[in-house]
Amino acid sequence: MTAKEIRQAYLKFFESKQHHIVASAPIVVKNDPTLMFTNAGMNQFKDLFLGEAPIKYPRVTDTQRCLRVSGKHNDLEEVGIDTYHHTMFEMLGNWSFGDYFKKEAIAWSWELLTEVYKIPKDKLYVSIFEGDEKEGLPRDTEAYELWKQYVPEERIILGNKKDNFWEMGDTGPCGPCSEIHVDCRPDDERKLVEGKTLVNADHPQVIEIWNNVFMQFNRLKDGSLQLLPAQHVDTGMGFERLVRVLQGKSSNYDTDVFQPLIQFIAAKAGIQYGMNEQTDIAMRVMADHVRAIAFVIADGQLPSNNKAGYVIRRILRRAVRYAYTFLNLKDPFLNELVPVLAEQFKGVFEELALQQDFVQKVILEEEVSFLRTLATGIQRFDSYTKKQAEFLMSENAIDPEKSFEDQWVHSILKDQMVISGEFAFELNDTYGFPIDLTELMAREKRWSVDMEEYNKALLKQKERSRAATAVDTGDWVLVNPDLEVEFVGYDDAEAETEIIKYRRV
Ligand code: ATP
Ligand code: MG
Ligand code: MG
Ligand code: MG
Repeated sequence: MTAKEIRQAYLKFFESKQHHIVASAPIVVKNDPTLMFTNAGMNQFKDLFLGEAPIKYPRVTDTQRCLRVSGKHNDLEEVGIDTYHHTMFEMLGNWSFGDYFKKEAIAWSWELLTEVYKIPKDKLYVSIFEGDEKEGLPRDTEAYELWKQYVPEERIILGNKKDNFWEMGDTGPCGPCSEIHVDCRPDDERKLVEGKTLVNADHPQVIEIWNNVFMQFNRLKDGSLQLLPAQHVDTGMGFERLVRVLQGKSSNYDTDVFQPLIQFIAAKAGIQYGMNEQTDIAMRVMADHVRAIAFVIADGQLPSNNKAGYVIRRILRRAVRYAYTFLNLKDPFLNELVPVLAEQFKGVFEELALQQDFVQKVILEEEVSFLRTLATGIQRFDSYTKKQAEFLMSENAIDPEKSFEDQWVHSILKDQMVISGEFAFELNDTYGFPIDLTELMAREKRWSVDMEEYNKALLKQKERSRAATAVDTGDWVLVNPDLEVEFVGYDDAEAETEIIKYRRV
């Protein structure tokens, strides 16, 4: 099946179960001060779950474009390194608003995966919430009993609160969830370990594809749980992961979702994909990042120097630097991927094709602007680390004939291989290197960055009195100007976006 057919089959399947197909919400969230980007299919239905909007259709299904680059869900550092986390991805979903519950949701997910998509049953396993006594949360025995009809018990895994209990925030709708994982290892490798199946964290070929959330409780201010008057189902399946499984690939990037982009990059760079780990990572990152950037721009957020605009500028600059350093693409190039992408998404997310020229122009301008300072910034970075290395070698009386890259030398010096916050700040201020890019470049050389000093330098420069109060409570940030708060520092990943962390006192 092609990616397009796979997506269509999902929507058709749920349509046949009386679900109404709705459009994806934009990836940029404009009317919610608590969330910058859509990070899950359920975001656009938040008010329905809270009982604050009327329910038009009790069953809906869609494919939602999502972005996970900030806040609670930040997968940026995984991208390109592993083969199944993206910045922008599609989340296929089906919802019940006070209509069907666990029995139907579980039966249908099983039917879809094994009968429509024909995934061999013995490659699937599921997790259910084990319960948490301290928190007064019961084990989801109902889901366990339902799954037992389809899955042998040794492949039903008990999961903890972190993985298998979903909460919107400190208060509000919440409930246990049940995940479906696929074991994509070759048949002869697939074996039970000590009577337990591997969980996804244990093996890169064992991946989580689908999460079924069962909203059954309302968490009150005093922390107690109340049964919701109407129970809801909220599911999310990673489209690119599903395609990988169905196309029998060992990486999302080997599917027809990513190959057109990767092959375009490879042709331009004159380097084959699959020949070298470093150039492969660069191609994967570029293919991934251009999707995020293009959709964010198409949905109305331009790159800029703060908040959501800066998140997207940071991603773009990372991609430009990967192209420059590892693929030797020294001229603006990312923008040329926009038409390839727009073609792919015709009939799915028309927003891109409709604004193709505009999106391409914005990306081109960003590339031109960063490429003006990138080379000098990289030179500065290289000479800084080189000088520091020489200094550390002599300070520690290490034979200068020895290589700095040497494992033994590294083991002695590693705690001192720190890029000063002042220098990281200079790279940012003068050459436009976002701090996460400097951290990434440092990591590649096994250095780290003094973030405390960096944040101080940033603060010194800005000299602002910031009275905003933001408490990050999970998927949403609560904004409440009357809250009594205490400053607890900057959110590292977000320092540039001017998000300041406060804690209730
Ligand atoms: P993971 O544990 O792999 O990070 P998750 O538990 O954070 O995934 P959920 O919040 O449960 O993910 O989202 C539902 C589904 O969306 C997941 O089962 C997965 O298939 C998909 N998904 C989540 N994050 C990503 C991502 N960064 N890129 C691609 N697909 C993703
Ligand atoms: Mg995750
Ligand atoms: Mg997970
Ligand atoms: Mg999950």
